[in-house]
Amino acid sequence: MSNNKTSGSAKRRTTCRICGGSRLFQFLSLGDTPLADAFVEKENLDKPEAKYPLDVEVCEDCGLVMLVNIVDPELLFGDNYAFYTSGSPQAVAHFRRYAHSIIERFPELAKKLTIDIAANDGVLLRPLKEFGAKVLGIDPAKNVTPVASAAGIPMITDFFTEITAKKIEEENGKASLVLANNVLAHVDDVHDFVRGVKLILDPHGVFIFEVQYFVKLLTNNQFDNVYHEHHSFYALRPLKKLIESEGMKIFDVEEVNTQGGSLRVFAEHADGPHFVKPTVQEMIQSELGLKLDTREPYKSLSSRAQHVKEELIKILDDLKKQGKKIVGYGAPAKGNTLLNFCGISTQYLDYIIDKTYFKHGKFTPGTHIPVFPIEKIQEDGPPDYYLLLVWNYAAGILNQEEEFIKKGGHFIIPIPAPHII
Ligand SMILES: [Zn+2]
Repeated sequence: MSNNKTSGSAKRRTTCRICGGSRLFQFLSLGDTPLADAFVEKENLDKPEAKYPLDVEVCEDCGLVMLVNIVDPELLFGDNYAFYTSGSPQAVAHFRRYAHSIIERFPELAKKLTIDIAANDGVLLRPLKEFGAKVLGIDPAKNVTPVASAAGIPMITDFFTEITAKKIEEENGKASLVLANNVLAHVDDVHDFVRGVKLILDPHGVFIFEVQYFVKLLTNNQFDNVYHEHHSFYALRPLKKLIESEGMKIFDVEEVNTQGGSLRVFAEHADGPHFVKPTVQEMIQSELGLKLDTREPYKSLSSRAQHVKEELIKILDDLKKQGKKIVGYGAPAKGNTLLNFCGISTQYLDYIIDKTYFKHGKFTPGTHIPVFPIEKIQEDGPPDYYLLLVWNYAAGILNQEEEFIKKGGHFIIPIPAPHII
């Protein structure tokens, strides 16, 4: 790409991926960090790890917030992509409700062809297929698509681009519903992506997608959601500009709770049949009310991130001085941003427990903390403190660990501001 400079194996964007503008203001730099899912095998602990900067900038023309360091997507989402959506009961429940809301709102469209971009293991398409929709999934991760295929969901293993859209259209015709959840943030060339959607969408079809909402990241200090998979952090204002620039329109938007707070966006061809709901303009007004068109909120996020780091280290230092045993709870991708940014390793955490099988026996990228199955706690006895790295599930986990807390155990919750429960 001519508008990118290459440094090592990460490119650095110098222009906005939505409007092409070059007035980019860098407000956050979380340091050189390995890929968040690159857990390290024991025998590789002495070898150097590939690290890439995490620099976040806002476009002062359209308001898009971007990670400007672009790692090769094959490294991020190809062979070793680790996440099976169906492995998370919360995600399965979310997508089931989501599918039913689509069927309820667009029953006629749901009877025809539905294409899910980044379909993962088919978690959203399964209920639609049960309803009688003709479904097709596309996903680049070679380890997840066979899982969907085995469940009877036709799958294409590829990245979604205008070129793949053309092939899909030739073989399957146009789709009445195009779905794309938690994927637009992963895409560098977003114009190509939206052109692909427009190409395969029936003239009366609807494009429904979810993206993490930048306003939630901002107001809840979720800076640990910055890792190399996430290229963009969307507010509605730049998103609307993107969709409209490709001859489509957003006619409705809702806030949903997934991923720490997301937008569910409904779009169609510019001359499509739906009236634009007032909620679209109202949400943009509320974003402007937060002064997202100025530098202030971004600078403020940056200083709060620094504050989280200082406060968290202070808490951990105090506890270690008192001889307390601390274990990490969960090893999510965002946890690795937090651990690397704060410099938290085995000087504080004895180890981390996590349910995900493939992480067991490995070490966290960059910080080299061993990861064990949760059964490790039964062998060792509970620690004095858990550092809750999956803070987005805090409510459920505190409930589940009621017994631990009753017996005097504590949780350190790092985000939005470090505190102890
Ligand atoms: Zn821009």
